[in-house]
Amino acid sequence: MKYYSTNHTAPQASLEEAVVKGLASDRGLFMPENIKRLPAEFFENIEKLTFHEIACTVAEVFFGEDIPKEDLDRIVCDTLAFDCPVSEVEPTIYSLELFHGPTLAFKDVGARFMARLLQYFIKGKTDGREVNVLVATSGDTGSAVANGFLGVEGIHVYVLYPKGKVSPIQECQFTTLGRNITAVEVDGVFDDCQRLVKSAFMDSELCGKMILTSANSINVARFLPQAFYYFNAYARMKALGKAGRLVVSVPSGNFGNITAGLFAHRMGLPIHRFIAANNANDIFYNYLLSGLYKPKASVQTIANAMDVGDPSNFVRILDLYGGDHGRISSLISGASYSDTQIRQTMKDCYDNTGYILDPHGACGYRALKEGLCEGETGVFLETAHPAKFKETVEAAINDSVTIPDRLAAFMKGDKLSVDMTSDFNDFKAFLLSRQ
Ligand SMILES: *Cc1c(COP(=O)(O)O)cnc(C)c1O
Repeated sequence: MKYYSTNHTAPQASLEEAVVKGLASDRGLFMPENIKRLPAEFFENIEKLTFHEIACTVAEVFFGEDIPKEDLDRIVCDTLAFDCPVSEVEPTIYSLELFHGPTLAFKDVGARFMARLLQYFIKGKTDGREVNVLVATSGDTGSAVANGFLGVEGIHVYVLYPKGKVSPIQECQFTTLGRNITAVEVDGVFDDCQRLVKSAFMDSELCGKMILTSANSINVARFLPQAFYYFNAYARMKALGKAGRLVVSVPSGNFGNITAGLFAHRMGLPIHRFIAANNANDIFYNYLLSGLYKPKASVQTIANAMDVGDPSNFVRILDLYGGDHGRISSLISGASYSDTQIRQTMKDCYDNTGYILDPHGACGYRALKEGLCEGETGVFLETAHPAKFKETVEAAINDSVTIPDRLAAFMKGDKLSVDMTSDFNDFKAFLLSRQ
């Protein structure tokens, strides 16, 4: 399968090139040149299949031409070492729980898949040299990427994060791992971390001496595998007899997650319609209403993984529907909630149902609560475990949130990190010293 750029001026790339490069040379995002529909029989019997069986079938549509089935099935099953179940919150609203992975958030799926795909592609090609993944993080991405690549042979990950600006729960998920993961604590802000990473990729001496790559969320290997759990959600809802008119509500920031759902829909998955649930960052919401896309500076909210003012994957959605606002807004509706509304939603849901939402999932839940029509059943994506936002959630629901064992285990580990200034020369010297 070839991958084209959403800017249409870069040459088409192979899957391997798209995964290793991340971004096309014309700075567009890669898109698969065709999206095959799955046969009707697949959907007729889907509820009888396991998550792994479903995911392997979906993976074959995207990656089957480029990776032998045996290898691909292994990569898929290794990635999905945890379940993505649906759980009833109330009779017409279900939670698709995406927090059962190692870092308790949905990004685990994409990060684990990408790590294994990259390992597959570099095997035997680097003369025994390590591939170095550089990632800048303000919190969640670093933990998903670090844990996704943990123990993956031939790859070393450097996670750059701003000193004192990441919550202790987030920090421990990438500073306590050791092995092939190095946490670099930068004396600066997130933008400094990002600048150091970008400068490294542009430094010809470094690139000559080391193999460098990124694990950005726009990478096709991180974003496409997210389609797996949309199919699984449909299968599980169908088994319950509730998949007739399914509405899927996705808490959205950079819009990678919902775009994977739209790919699933294009492959024939019978989802009736989608809702993109936003916090106060309402750029897509306004686009749906007005047809005008006006990026702005992001505003800080309690659902901070969705604080995005210019969602990268918007161009993928435009590309998927030929830029047709009518088609986009008839399939997807929007919602935007203030922090006050998010807090109230967490409280109301807990008081009425006993289900504890995290601030991101709360946006998805509320959009269903307000927007479901007669005869529809809703599934919202619960993108993170509420314990990751313990203080915020506890204050909202006025009760305590139990920390799952695997999160507590991170918190017990010893912090291992390298102190770094925000001067690129220091970072460069450090990287060179590691070779
Ligand atoms: C990253 C993230 C989101 C936003 O997902 P996008 O794919 O960027 O739209 C939502 N919730 C949580 C918890 C996240 O970590």
